[in-house]
Amino acid sequence: MGKNEISILYVEDEPTARESLSRFINRFCRTLYMAENGEEGLALYKEHRVDIVISDIKMPKMSGLDMVEEIKKINKDQLVIFTTAHIDSEYLFKAIELQVDGYVSKPVDLDKLKVQIEKCVIELHAKEAIAQLKESEERAQVVLETSQLGVFIYKEKFLYVNDIFAKMMGYTKEELCTMDAWALTEKEDREFIHQAVLRRLQGESFPLVYKDMTLISKENNQVICRVSTETIQYQGGNAGLGTVLDVTDILQTQERLKQLAQAMEQMDEMVRITDKDGYITYVNEALTRHTGYKKSELIGNTNRLFKSGKHSEIFYKKMYEAIEKKESFQATFINAKKNGDLYYEDQVITPILDEENESVKYYVSTSKDITESVKMQEKMKLLATMDSLTGIKNRYSVNNEIESEIKRVKRYGGSFALMMFDIDFFKRVNDTYGHDAGDYVLKEFSTIVLKAIRDTDIFGRWGGEEFMLLAPSEELDGAMVLAEKIRKDVEAFVFEQVKHITVSIGMTICDTNADKERLLKKVDDALYEAKESGRNRVIYQKCECDEIC
Ligand code: GH3
Ligand code: MG
Ligand code: MG
Repeated sequence: MGKNEISILYVEDEPTARESLSRFINRFCRTLYMAENGEEGLALYKEHRVDIVISDIKMPKMSGLDMVEEIKKINKDQLVIFTTAHIDSEYLFKAIELQVDGYVSKPVDLDKLKVQIEKCVIELHAKEAIAQLKESEERAQVVLETSQLGVFIYKEKFLYVNDIFAKMMGYTKEELCTMDAWALTEKEDREFIHQAVLRRLQGESFPLVYKDMTLISKENNQVICRVSTETIQYQGGNAGLGTVLDVTDILQTQERLKQLAQAMEQMDEMVRITDKDGYITYVNEALTRHTGYKKSELIGNTNRLFKSGKHSEIFYKKMYEAIEKKESFQATFINAKKNGDLYYEDQVITPILDEENESVKYYVSTSKDITESVKMQEKMKLLATMDSLTGIKNRYSVNNEIESEIKRVKRYGGSFALMMFDIDFFKRVNDTYGHDAGDYVLKEFSTIVLKAIRDTDIFGRWGGEEFMLLAPSEELDGAMVLAEKIRKDVEAFVFEQVKHITVSIGMTICDTNADKERLLKKVDDALYEAKESGRNRVIYQKCECDEIC
């Protein structure tokens, strides 16, 4: 606060005195307010709260003393200088009671007034400096009391401890301030600390940092701390200043992390962590075991190393889309091991975000090698749809194919031929040559049919010695030719031991009005007719659905 920033209220009822003095006072301040009596002065004061009040004592309406009395109720520290011709004791005592800061007798000696004003200005500056100091002290106090850092000042005993430190040790501040500075350490450390304290008190300066010092709390718990101490000047003498960070939690976290890392190494699931740019920063033991790569070959590399070429661009696009949206991505990857072998990896890639949940810090991928189960599933799928004796489709699968072919025809038009085969007098084969010979005939029969049909035709075993053939896009004439060819091929084939067999074939054509039940009935009827009319022949029966349209 410079001289020019000061504001003054000047109250004087006498116009000539007011005129001349105001010009003089104006030199000391930025703003000068003037009033003609106490009442006016008080009103101005309430509005402006000036730094210094200079006032006459005897004035109409309200005297200077009454005005200052009111002002002091508002601000007891208000700086006030009286100017008055009435130097009698009554006024003087009142002025002293009001704790005024200056008194200049009238007619005013300008030099004396100047001295009084300057005295007030110095006082104002001092007050301001004290206020600032108090503020910064308070700020330091807040920092000390709110940070996680324990702070203590000590000579032989603790002189000051902050709340954090007191709480850390389980004592009250007052209790701590009766204790020796080395009392909180473990027995075996005490002598050393005691000596260090004494050296500090003699003024020696040596910073000490104890990384993991064990302090003992009031409840006798071990508190592991990072402690730093230094020599300072405090209350006019040497003292020690210590800061303490409780690292028990940090050590426990470190221990937990160590355990987690060990667990990650031992688990069978594969784990890899990549940075935000896709470079591998961590792989666990399982991953190296499954892929044949060493850790050193993987770290710093990217996951492209595992690419098998078995996935489309769309597959990877989907993955990038998900992780760009900071979402997890789960899929079965077909990846390549170091030796080139492919394996199925059921993988979940999870982006780990920063504290603000804004950007990706790294990606964690956990995965399982599911090659065995994928192969097993494929095998089971095959078993579920395959006839185990002949290796062709089974009834379940043929049935599905008939249903989807009906749907296709209904949707896109066209037709398909359905043929049902039944080997003639097959019971005799079994009876004459045994069951194995019968099995052999069934297998051989399947091969004959497979050789005669197209890749798009669907052929399966319907049950026993009955078979079904579905020939898509087949009209009657073409289907007849195919059926006849099969019948003749079977008739002509020489089976080991059994020699010749024949087959009866029922056939129907299905078009857009197809219905599975009627279709199967019709093909069965046709087969029955073939048997009834002498076997080893092809009988066509028109499907009733044809008749409707
Ligand atoms: P048809 O000319 O009237 O068809 O006379 P068929 O003897 O062929 O007819 P039938 O239905 O009386 O006999 C079918 C035989 O097929 C009965 C059964 O033992 C035999 N069979 C069914 N499944 C198998 C099989 O998987 N292996 C063998 N070896 N025989 C089977
Ligand atoms: Mg039969
Ligand atoms: Mg038969």
